[in-house]
Amino acid sequence: MVPTQPRRGTTCHKRPHQTTPCVPVPIGADTIGLMRIVVVGAGVMGTWAALWLRRAGHSVTLIDRHGPGNRLCSSGDESRITRSSHGADRHYPTWQRRALEQWRELERSAGEKLFEPAGGVVWLASEAQTFEAESYESLAALGIPVERWTTDELAARVPALNPDGIPWALFEPEAGALFARPAVMAAQDRLRAEGGEIVVARVAPSAATEGGLNRITLDDGAPLDADAFVFACGPWLPDLFPDLLGELIVPHRQDVMHFAVPPGDDRYAPGKLPVWIDFDGSFYGFPSFDGIGAKACPDWLGPIERPDDSAREVADETIEASRSLLRRRFPGLADQPVVRRWTCFYEVTPDANFVIDRHPTLADTWIAGGGTGHAFKHGPVIGEYLAALVTGNARAASELAPPDDRFALRPRGASVSFRTSGRAPSPIPQEP
Ligand SMILES: Cc1cc2nc3c(=O)[nH]c(=O)nc-3n(C[C@H](O)[C@H](O)[C@H](O)COP(=O)(O)OP(=O)(O)OC[C@H]3O[C@@H](n4cnc5c(N)ncnc54)[C@H](O)[C@@H]3O)c2cc1C
Repeated sequence: MVPTQPRRGTTCHKRPHQTTPCVPVPIGADTIGLMRIVVVGAGVMGTWAALWLRRAGHSVTLIDRHGPGNRLCSSGDESRITRSSHGADRHYPTWQRRALEQWRELERSAGEKLFEPAGGVVWLASEAQTFEAESYESLAALGIPVERWTTDELAARVPALNPDGIPWALFEPEAGALFARPAVMAAQDRLRAEGGEIVVARVAPSAATEGGLNRITLDDGAPLDADAFVFACGPWLPDLFPDLLGELIVPHRQDVMHFAVPPGDDRYAPGKLPVWIDFDGSFYGFPSFDGIGAKACPDWLGPIERPDDSAREVADETIEASRSLLRRRFPGLADQPVVRRWTCFYEVTPDANFVIDRHPTLADTWIAGGGTGHAFKHGPVIGEYLAALVTGNARAASELAPPDDRFALRPRGASVSFRTSGRAPSPIPQEP
């Protein structure tokens, strides 16, 4: 673990803790009055939920066992793709566009680069499946800028790529890369600046009382009462709620690698190399933001591991498999040294839809997670939606709600379509 220095305004929990009292700030007509709200988990989902709840006027405490900006959570990596394409689905693209606006607003207020257009995002299409063709149709219908490139255009626009066998490419000129950890830390700074509190502590699962949780217990035994609780604990969620989430959210260790950019070769720089996604190959990558390494990673599912038990070591087999994919598509990187290696966790649901729902028996408790390798970009809107649900703001919730019950806590069938991978997020059950 890389230790994180708490920023100013972060409380390292040492003695019994009370949430800060509600402060009299104006609230919108649709909210239900001032509440004390505890958000557990300061990844992208919990941080943005806390920020939106605070902006709605509530007293908010955000708690994380590994501290704000930690590198063990799924949101603590260098970079995350923000892209509109989601096959035929038209809900995720609208969330992504709304969220990108919010990331950019945060970038402006933080005075720090959080989004890198990087020359857009290019999808290497295939004739074997319809993801790119359906995405093209959806984005065009939604008025989101999108282009179709021929193989020759692809070769001209991405000089480092070997385009052999790629029939066409889908290009999203307004998509790109988010600098993940700095972006979450900037949102945490906003939360503090706007009156929210951040506490470093581990929350132990507590017994419910009278249909609600009412109280949680911190690792030093201190109780913490609140009117509502949001648990946004990423890959740790199944540990906290094993009966409810043990089968719905499965943590998979994912290996991340940066391959050294050959000296003097500028083909991997942002603007020369867009963010690229090989949906069929289940492989994606970024340009080199630091001029040293270019990130190239598998999107196929890694081994199932509990985050607390994992040695967090990148497997040699992943590096070898990645080299063979690079040899085919980016031969200039294939034999380069790995200059950075990293692991983090996909919290995988069977259908790759997130979980954003009220606990079935605890009326004051909400669960947010199941990012399945594609939630980071949506973080601001996930937080906005959660805040509307938790505070009973029906108008805001209905404006943001999907057209179906995709985020509900319920058993789900398998689907392959929302990650940057054409492979199933979990084995597709065979017909009996
Ligand atoms: C390799 C990789 C690549 C990805 N690529 C993309 C991408 O390109 N685009 C994209 O949009 N998404 C991507 N994702 C997915 C995205 O990063 C995650 O879905 C998202 O970051 C999950 O955020 P979260 O807030 O749910 O969880 P996390 O970020 O994991 O945060 C959970 C927090 O809860 C805290 N916690 C846990 N238990 C407790 C407890 N008991 N008490 C107190 N605190 C607790 C943890 O310390 C942690 O900080 C990728 C994920 C991975 C792993």
